[in-house]
Amino acid sequence: MKWQGRRQSGNLDDRRGMSKGKMAAGGGIVVTLIVLALNFFGGETGQQLAPIVEQLGNSQGNQQTEQRELTAQEKEMGNFMATVLADTEDVWGKVFSDNNLGQYQDPTMVLFTDAVSTGCGNASSASGPFYCPADQKLYMDLAFFDELKTRFGAQGGDFAIAYVTAHEIGHHVQTLLGTSQKVTKLQQQNRSEANRFSVALELQADFYAGVWAHYNQEYLEEGDIDEALSAANAVGDDAIQKRTQGNVVPDSFTHGSSEQRKRWFMKGYKTGDIKQGDTFSEILN
Ligand SMILES: [Zn+2]
Repeated sequence: MKWQGRRQSGNLDDRRGMSKGKMAAGGGIVVTLIVLALNFFGGETGQQLAPIVEQLGNSQGNQQTEQRELTAQEKEMGNFMATVLADTEDVWGKVFSDNNLGQYQDPTMVLFTDAVSTGCGNASSASGPFYCPADQKLYMDLAFFDELKTRFGAQGGDFAIAYVTAHEIGHHVQTLLGTSQKVTKLQQQNRSEANRFSVALELQADFYAGVWAHYNQEYLEEGDIDEALSAANAVGDDAIQKRTQGNVVPDSFTHGSSEQRKRWFMKGYKTGDIKQGDTFSEILN
């Protein structure tokens, strides 16, 4: 994908390189020393003491993180992610206005390492990239994209990363359009169909990723669509089940098969028409 020199989004919250440091132990010592000092000098009452300890306690949990300098490669990845995010903002802004869907609201993308707290609870790298509707943010630990190659067997490449990002943006689009909320309600009313609703929702996010790629064609390089399809293939439920448990159980699918994921991505890519993304009638009938 040709991305160098293009607009980068300002909606990137880069928390990589931040980690809970060894400061916590030091903080503990500071608290103890203050308590001792106050006791030693008399005068201070328990009432005044409490907030000091509390304050130190808070900063221990939230702010005493260590920030290491990002490597040149990490900075480059950050620039790439900011460019892909900017591109989704431009494309979806246009698609929303062309289709009279109101104003597209840009989401925030959080890059993190290891663990992150979100509007949807705490998450670790193990969750993979995800979108949280509660705070309308995408959370990405970029280590996932190494795993996509090593564990999931995808061919990798920058457009594989762009596809996964565009899929998560697809969930943001579904949230703005109210689709996610409707599906959640239907899943609660009809628990035996919950997985099938999930598959339809996920395939539609793949379709939206394809729609984004459709409007990004002038920046595509040879092999880019193959990279996206290889990633879609690798994260199909059947491919994952075959790899992890040896057999395939379609009723337990939550994201769709490799074939379905590739097909819906391609449909979005070829048509660029969001009105053709009704994955629900295919999956629920
Ligand atoms: Zn998804």
